[in-house]
Amino acid sequence: MPRVPVNRPSLPALVRVAGPSGEAVPDPATAAALARAAEMLATGQLVVIPTETVYGLAANALDADAVALIYRVKGRPPDNPLIVHVSDTAMARRLAADWPEVAARATAACWPGPLTVVVRKAAAVPKIVTAGGETVALRCPAVAVTRRLIEQAGCPLAAPSANRSEAVSPTTAAHVLDGLGSRVGLILDAGPCEHGLESTVLDCTVEPPRILRPGPITAATLAAVIGMPVLGPGNRAAPVAENRPAPPASLDRSPGQRQRHYAPRTPLEVSAEAAPRVAELLGSGSRIGWLTLRPEAAEVRRLADSPSLVVVPMPADAAAYGRMLYATLHALDHRHLDRLVADAVPDETAWAAVHDRLSRATSEI
Ligand code: AMP
Ligand code: MG
Repeated sequence: MPRVPVNRPSLPALVRVAGPSGEAVPDPATAAALARAAEMLATGQLVVIPTETVYGLAANALDADAVALIYRVKGRPPDNPLIVHVSDTAMARRLAADWPEVAARATAACWPGPLTVVVRKAAAVPKIVTAGGETVALRCPAVAVTRRLIEQAGCPLAAPSANRSEAVSPTTAAHVLDGLGSRVGLILDAGPCEHGLESTVLDCTVEPPRILRPGPITAATLAAVIGMPVLGPGNRAAPVAENRPAPPASLDRSPGQRQRHYAPRTPLEVSAEAAPRVAELLGSGSRIGWLTLRPEAAEVRRLADSPSLVVVPMPADAAAYGRMLYATLHALDHRHLDRLVADAVPDETAWAAVHDRLSRATSEI
């Protein structure tokens, strides 16, 4: 069996594995990478895993020392709990003290996929995973190779995004290398993430259930599959009917949802009147990156010739925009610009997750 080298303390081994849907029988390179990764997880080491949302920095969720390593490598505050990744619903239920009907319906419809459910934790889940709390966040990822790894390792995986705390989450293996470099030993590379934004987090310990973090699965979808209204962040009815993005999550029920998060190194601002703002910044000698929804507009084309301006056309579709957002921020960070300006996105529920991430990326606190 080919061995996957572990190069620490220099750069991590980066191994290409089967893509999102995977195959029933993994190819030899994938099988060897999974065997190596499973062994590392079983011995308390960290492995970077692909998921359909963003790349994750994984440890055996039942090994408190291994989980402590995640916090160290990321520089993550201890009050920010981790999502535990499972291979199926049966594994999730073993980690939960109870399994509310809402969790059963939501996971039956959305797993494997970008939905995290928060339920009361079983005693086996170490407190370090839940930041001391009595609830645990659980998710079954859609990437087949990652579910296979969880099965092979024989344990659930605690895995936050594979980046330093507060930085933009990685949606490719190259982003992980860029952000964590030699801090990790092995990266499983399954190509670019399908969604590119973190999962929707649904609190199933309250009735009606509440979205703690908007993500790829919308409030409308959840309400439909659960068969009851779903509250939005901030304890208000989720804006299913009124068609508006939800306000930011309150800190009490969703620890770790700080206002500033997911931020590029280059300061970013969102503007409803981006053209005059970009013109003003260019006039003061700044080098600007502009994420625009209207690349063909006359006002954009007028400015586009400026050598100090990088125009990035962004998709008019919310899911496509979400898929590109972090990759765009990573790429623009490499241009060493003075400032990024993003056109304000539509005030509609489909855009709630993008709206949330843009607002966190621009926040100063
Ligand atoms: P990340 O791993 O960076 O995607 O962040 C995971 C997020 O999930 C945390 O920042 C919390 O907002 C949320 N989360 C994880 N565990 C819990 C929990 N037990 N209760 C509420 N929210 C949680
Ligand atoms: Mg994160």
